[in-house]
Formats: sequence, C-alpha cells, structure tokens
Amino acid sequence: MSFLSPSLAKFIASLGYKAIACGNDTTLSVPLAVDAGLGQLGRFGALITPEFGPRVRLCKVITDLPLVPTDPIDFGVTEFCDICQKCAEYCPAQAILYGKRTHKSRIASTNPGLLKWPLDGEKCLRFWYMNGAKTEKGMYHIDCYQCINVCPFNKIPGIGHDLVRWFVRKKIGAIDRLLLLGDDIFYHPLHETGLHKKSEYR
Ligand code: SF4
Ligand code: SF4
Repeated sequence: MSFLSPSLAKFIASLGYKAIACGNDTTLSVPLAVDAGLGQLGRFGALITPEFGPRVRLCKVITDLPLVPTDPIDFGVTEFCDICQKCAEYCPAQAILYGKRTHKSRIASTNPGLLKWPLDGEKCLRFWYMNGAKTEKGMYHIDCYQCINVCPFNKIPGIGHDLVRWFVRKKIGAIDRLLLLGDDIFYHPLHETGLHKKSEYR
C-alpha cells in the first residue's frame, strides 16, 4: 500500500493532474472498491474479489484525472453470505453480525442507511490488541484475520474451485448449501488451523 499508492499518485501528478495518495485514511476504501466493481461486500465487512477472494489490501488515489467509471459487479457473494456464517462463528471477538443484513447502525462507529452486515469494529480492534505481541524490533504487532482465514471464497484458483465459483455466480440456494457443506468437509478450519467456533476470548 505504502509503495503503490504514492507511485501511482506521482505518475498521475506527472501527467499534470491532482493526485492524493491514500491508504486506509481519508475515505473508506471498501465502499469505493464495491462501487468501482472490484468486488462485493462480505458479511465480515471486507471486500471479496472474484480473483483473490478476501485476500486483498486496498489503497487509493483521489484525483481529478478524467476516468471512465466501471460498474459494480455481482458474483453471488451476498446470497452466499446469507447462508454461510463461518466468519461470524469463528470470529474470536464475536464482532461479526449473524443472520440477515440490516440498515441500522450497530454501534456508534457504524453508519446506518446501507443494507449490510455492520461489523462491530470496536470489539474487533480490542481483540487485535489482546492478540498482539512485540516483534523482535520492539514494535507492537496487532493482528487477527480469522474471518479471512475461514471464508470459503479464500481458495486458490484451479478447476475445482473455479467450478464452485461458477455455481456460486448462478445463485441457486440449494447448490450454495451443498457447496458450503463441501467446504465444511474438505476445508474445515479445525483441520487446518485449530480454530474453534466462538472462541473463549473474553
Ligand atoms: S479480524 Fe478477527 S476479530 Fe476482527 S472481525 Fe475478523 S475474525 Fe473477528
Ligand atoms: S465466511 Fe461466509 S459469511 Fe463470511 S464473508 Fe465469507 S462467505 Fe460470507
């Protein structure tokens, strides 16, 4: 992020346009990415892309360079998230909303008005600090991302996974449930990471 965004901004500026490089600051990145058609919003509040699933970091450049807008895309994420709650079940902080999307704000730091699964970012961040550790260089490293770890969209390309993604695009509820069962059988998080549903974090 810290390399790409300023590099692109510098290039745009060299063409004679205004360009402000941003990381997570200045504006919310996920809504911009959704509107630009890079992916869809998942239950855990992060972007899910067709190519890389949720394994993306977003940065952006605000500019007056004339651009051709791209449209939002739909490859079945909302419908799949409706029946899958893995990220909510495995979130150690229990910060992710179960059940249906809502227009309401959940805590003071979530905006009302948009139909989504608002994340309790305060619970999430508190867990990041609890889960933190000092690195060898003395910096404090905070982290989690179990939600990304268990997300069924987090799969490498290949004939099998690409076929699954093709079916998810078709949005056939019964097939989505079958695919979710397949994910449970072949990629159960307990097999891979020792994660537990509704962790004992307090
Ligand atoms: S990063 Fe961790 S604590 Fe935050 S929502 Fe994801 S699983 Fe929960
Ligand atoms: S884990 Fe399931 S519910 Fe959560 S974002 Fe991924 S597909 Fe959606």
